[in-house]
Amino acid sequence: MKNIYVTQPSMPPLEEFTAYLKDIWESKWLTNNGKFHQELESALAGYLGVKYISLFSNGTLALITALQTLRITGEVITTPFSFVATTHSLWWNGIKPVFVDIGNEYFNIDPKKIEAVITPHTTAIMPVHVYGNPCDMQAIEKIADTYGLRVIYDAAHAFGVTVKGNSVMNMGDLSVLSFHATKVFTTIEGGAIISHDENTKKRIDFLKNFGFADEVTVVAPGINAKMNEIQAAFGLLQLKTVDEAIAKRQKIAQTYREQLGNCPGIRCLWDIKQVRHNYAYFPVLIDSEMYGSTRDEIYEDLKKHHIFCRRYFYPLISNFPTYSGLDSAAVENLPVATQVAGKVLCLPIYPDLELESVEKIARLILTLQK
Ligand SMILES: *Cc1c(COP(=O)(O)O)cnc(C)c1O
Repeated sequence: MKNIYVTQPSMPPLEEFTAYLKDIWESKWLTNNGKFHQELESALAGYLGVKYISLFSNGTLALITALQTLRITGEVITTPFSFVATTHSLWWNGIKPVFVDIGNEYFNIDPKKIEAVITPHTTAIMPVHVYGNPCDMQAIEKIADTYGLRVIYDAAHAFGVTVKGNSVMNMGDLSVLSFHATKVFTTIEGGAIISHDENTKKRIDFLKNFGFADEVTVVAPGINAKMNEIQAAFGLLQLKTVDEAIAKRQKIAQTYREQLGNCPGIRCLWDIKQVRHNYAYFPVLIDSEMYGSTRDEIYEDLKKHHIFCRRYFYPLISNFPTYSGLDSAAVENLPVATQVAGKVLCLPIYPDLELESVEKIARLILTLQK
C-alpha cells in the first residue's frame, strides 16, 4: 500500500513549468525583481485582495524582516501553539517572547489574557491564524490601540482566508505568509509580507535586498531574502489552480466531518460564519477517556497502516529548550495550549487525496477505537 502523508503539494503540469524555464534560460534573469517576480506580486495582491505585497525566499526570513521593518524590540506577546519559526523570528531579532495561552475554540491566542502581561518593554503582539482560522482580530486591535502596540500576524496558514469578504491580511500592521511546499499555495520555498502603505512596502523591499535603496545607497542593515524567478514562475502556475485546490480540500474536510463529526471522543473544528476557509489542515482532538485510546496510540496505529498524520503543534514552542526557561513558558501559564497539544492530530488533507482514501482513514480511526 502507498504511504499517505499529512500533506502533498499539487504539482503544475510539467510542460507548463518547462515553458517558464525556457523563458528564464533565454533571458538569463534569475533573481533580483525579475519579470515573474513582478508578475507574481501583482497577481497575488489581486488574488488576496491586499494593497502591497513583498515576496520572500521563505516565510521565516519574511517574519524576521517584518520585525526589522517596524523596528520591534524588547518584548513581544505571542502564542506557544504554532510552528517554531514564529518564536524563532523573535529570537533572531533579540526580542524576548512572552507566551500567552490560547482559546479553546480555535486555538488562537486568547485576547483576554494579553493585557495582563503587557510591560513597559512590550512593543508588539505576534498572533498566528492557526490552521487558517482567523484570530479575534478586533479584540487584538483594541488592545494594540489602547497600549500603542504593533501587530504582526503570522498568517502562514491563512492564504486566501477572508472574513466577510475582506482578507485577514488587511488587519494589523503587517501579515506574513509562507509559501513552503507544505502550504496551501506554494512556490517550493517562499513567503511574503503584506503591508498597507507604499513607504512600508519600500522599506520591506530595501530590507530584503541588503538595505539597498539604489546602486550606491544602503539605508539599513538588510538581509538577502529575495524570491528568485524559478520560485515566482512556480507560484504563477500554482495561482491558476489554487481555487480548485481549495475546493477539493473543502470536500475532504466535509467528508472527514461526516464520518467523524459525531464520534464520541473526537472533536472536529467547524467552519466559522462569514469566513472563507482554506482547509489548510484538518485537526481533530482526541479525548482519550471517551475515545478509549490516546492520541499517540492512534498516531502510531495509523502509521502501521501507512498513514502519516502530524501532531501539529506538539510539543509547544514554549517546551523547546531555548524557550522553556522563560517565566511565561510555565505549564501553569498555558493550560489550554498544553491540553490541546496533548490531544491534537492533523489528518491528511491535500487536493490530490481521493475521497475514498479519506473515508478509509476515517473508518480506520473508528475501528482503531478501543
Ligand atoms: C510554515 C510556517 C512558518 C515558516 O515558513 P517557512 O516558509 O517554512 O520558513 C512560520 N509560521 C508558521 C505558523 C508556519 O506554519
